[in-house]
Amino acid sequence: KRLVVLGGGESGVGTAILGKKKGYEVFVSDFGKIKESYKEVLALNKLDWEEGKHTEALILNANVVMKSPGIPDKSPIVKLLEEKGVPVISEIEFAAQFTTATTIGITGSNGKTTTTMLTYHVLKQAGLNVGLAGNIGKSFAWQVADDKHDAYVLELSSFQLDGIVNYKPHIAVITNISPDHLDRYEYNYELYIAAKFRITKNQTEDDYLIYDADDEAITKWLKQNTVKAKKIPFSLSGNNKEGVYIEQNTILSNINEEEFKMPINELSLEGNHNVKNAMATSAIAKLMRVRKQTIRESLSDFQGVEHRLEKVLKIQNVQYINDSKATNTNATFFALDSMTTPTVWIVGGVDKGNDYDELMQLVNEKVKAIICLGVDNQKIINAFGNVVDVMVETTSMSEAVKIAQKIAEKGDTVLLSPACASFDLFENYEDRGRQFKAAVQNL
Ligand code: ADP
Repeated sequence: KRLVVLGGGESGVGTAILGKKKGYEVFVSDFGKIKESYKEVLALNKLDWEEGKHTEALILNANVVMKSPGIPDKSPIVKLLEEKGVPVISEIEFAAQFTTATTIGITGSNGKTTTTMLTYHVLKQAGLNVGLAGNIGKSFAWQVADDKHDAYVLELSSFQLDGIVNYKPHIAVITNISPDHLDRYEYNYELYIAAKFRITKNQTEDDYLIYDADDEAITKWLKQNTVKAKKIPFSLSGNNKEGVYIEQNTILSNINEEEFKMPINELSLEGNHNVKNAMATSAIAKLMRVRKQTIRESLSDFQGVEHRLEKVLKIQNVQYINDSKATNTNATFFALDSMTTPTVWIVGGVDKGNDYDELMQLVNEKVKAIICLGVDNQKIINAFGNVVDVMVETTSMSEAVKIAQKIAEKGDTVLLSPACASFDLFENYEDRGRQFKAAVQNL
């Protein structure tokens, strides 16, 4: 059987190793460049590869093709494979058939990484032999090849879910859904929502779906469609007493016929969005039969994830916060919502179709100055020009931070939460976040 792997990155190389181990003849093809370290691994495992091209003669004769999540469905080689009737699947689909481990699949527009890391932390603290994969760290396929774990927490983007045929997580989580990546879904929000719900498509009555019951797109979809999995909603609203809910500032649930309680103020992560992430995590942990005490302890000592409302430093009683991962308005909404002191807000970059009206009320209430950090800031200026007293434009992170320091007074917060992608001025959101932290250190 011939397995062709499109893309020689983390998931591609992991899939190639696993395929070889399972007796496939494997070929890796990358239209760009393959990293040197991956080339060494491919050589070590005697795997054939090419870069800078897709040689059709070597690809179209595959029995199955694994497409890395970064390669769009529209790319010519994928189209050609479809025409020839060659199955094109995702890494998760390919790898899942070779493991009996329990998998927890986490998807959503925002909060995937945080919920995935938080869950991994809780399960690890509980002593489970658990792996972390999907969009994070070492690829799932690679870990399955090494036959490493009894359970996996997988962060799943909609692109990974697009390539699913038979895969099902035992526990699926949809954190929330808001418009994002619509360019990959024909600018059709319904298609993007459907892609997220693919996570449930092969689930049975023995499986679980944990989801945000306050989320309009999710509840609407669930009204119009059926899922077989047992549903566990979580809700901040206080009206909903099913699944995981809130009463008197305490998270409550009754899963597996056992009551779970945790006061919100004991959570280590701040902000309402993180209460939601913790609620989802607590449900997963209960289903995995982790002791209540361990869940509470782990939720209260989790250190957070870089670039997500990350506290950088307090200088002259001004708190600097790096939320560079906020690349859409929904993420920034929750960042502003969690601000408790007057905020100097650094915002801007590549707009992905933002509707700034959603932020208007919070900006009115919390933001004292806006520093625009993007090549084109016109939309932000139009939206908030009359709302805040101070509006400054710059294209340099170090200057943005210096200006913020000048404006901020004792007790204020300086928040980088761009609501935009980063490629106009930075390599990626990590680069943007690190430049912010370096600039703050330099103060
Ligand atoms: P993802 O992996 O889905 O991109 P992250 O956990 O990396 O999500 O968080 C991305 C951004 O969204 C960060 O700015 C973070 O502060 C914010 N965020 C985290 N959890 C949520 C949530 N449940 N709802 C909305 N925004 C969130």
